Amino acid sequence: METPHDPHSINYRIREGLARIATIMRVDEWNRAKTLGLNPTQLAILTALDGRMTGLSVKDVAAHLGISQPTATDSLNALEKKSLVERRASAEDRRAVRVHLTTDGASTLQSHQPDRLAERAVASLESGQHQELLVMLVTMIRELQDQDAIPQQRMCVSCQYFLPFEHSGSSQPHHCKFVDAAFGQSELRIDCRDQLLSTPQKRASDWNKFQAGSAPL
Ligand code: SF4
Repeated sequence: METPHDPHSINYRIREGLARIATIMRVDEWNRAKTLGLNPTQLAILTALDGRMTGLSVKDVAAHLGISQPTATDSLNALEKKSLVERRASAEDRRAVRVHLTTDGASTLQSHQPDRLAERAVASLESGQHQELLVMLVTMIRELQDQDAIPQQRMCVSCQYFLPFEHSGSSQPHHCKFVDAAFGQSELRIDCRDQLLSTPQKRASDWNKFQAGSAPL
């Protein structure tokens, strides 16, 4: 018989919940990849390359996807055969090779996006919950970055253009120097194409300001 006294810690049970959501997200990715004639790894590579003007090295691709370099190379070879990515010499070091999305690769990503189950689940939350969840996700992703478990993501909280709580007290407390505009917590970006990674010192100081401003009153 089930009892309300679960022997597992709340952290364990949150992880169980995240695992269920991750399963649905994998189903979403399989479905989308299938409609595009790709496998999920190939689709994830195209997504990781999207909006990166300087491309990524094979090592970066592997780190972003959490896969081995040989697996990344196999998938890149398949994508190259389909003319969805191309390898180019790096502008800084002609001996280094960077992988870029081709025009066909970019339009493949823009094409048909089936209704996603995970987005339906997110849509079931109320608007205040969306914002809270977004801030929690930013916090968890940042922690994983700090542990070098994942590469730096293109998030506002690690962006050179980010001024956290520059307009404290306003409904749009943050400022983006790239577009010179204020924005709210609910507009924080996880993967912004215009992000410029800030220095470790700015990242640490911005994070302190961000956490202090985000704390419940
Ligand atoms: S450029 Fe993008 S990541 Fe940087 S602060 Fe502006 S919106 Fe955020």
